[in-house]
Amino acid sequence: MTPKQGVSGKPPYDDNNIFAKILRGDIPCRKVYEDEFALAFHDINPQAPHHILVIPKGRYVAFADFAATAPEAEITGFIRAIGHVAHMLGFEDTGYRLLANMGPDSHQEVPHLHVHLFAGRPLGPMLV
Ligand code: IMP
Repeated sequence: MTPKQGVSGKPPYDDNNIFAKILRGDIPCRKVYEDEFALAFHDINPQAPHHILVIPKGRYVAFADFAATAPEAEITGFIRAIGHVAHMLGFEDTGYRLLANMGPDSHQEVPHLHVHLFAGRPLGPMLV
C-alpha cells in the first residue's frame, strides 16, 4: 500500500533557525556540496573526523512531513545529495553513519530537517 501524502503533522517552520540563516547566506558555513535541492556543510562541533550535515533547501522541520508532503523531485534530490556527498568524500570503502534527529526525544536542536554524516574512524555500535 502506498502511504497517502499529507498524513503527518506539519510543525511550524521558524525562518530564523540557524540552518535557514545558512541557506540565506546570513551566516557562513564550511560548504562541502550544494545543488538545487540540498546543501552540505561541516558541523561546527564535529563528533567524528568527518561530520557533515546535509539539509534540504525546502522549509521542513520533520522527516515525516518531508516524506509525506515534499515534491518527489525534492525528496529524490535530497537523498541523492546525501549519497553524492558520501561518495564524493570517499567514505564508501571504510564506511559511514547517517543519523537524523527528529523532535524533543531525539534532542533535535535545529528545527530544519538535516542528516548527520559521520565518517573517518570506527564509529562503534549504535547507542540510543
Ligand atoms: P541536531 O541535534 O540533530 O539538531 O544537530 C544540530 C547540529 O547542528 C549539531 O551537531 C550542531 O553542532 C550543528 N550546528 C549548530 N549550529 C551550526 C552552525 O552554525 N554551523 C554548522 N553546524 C551547526
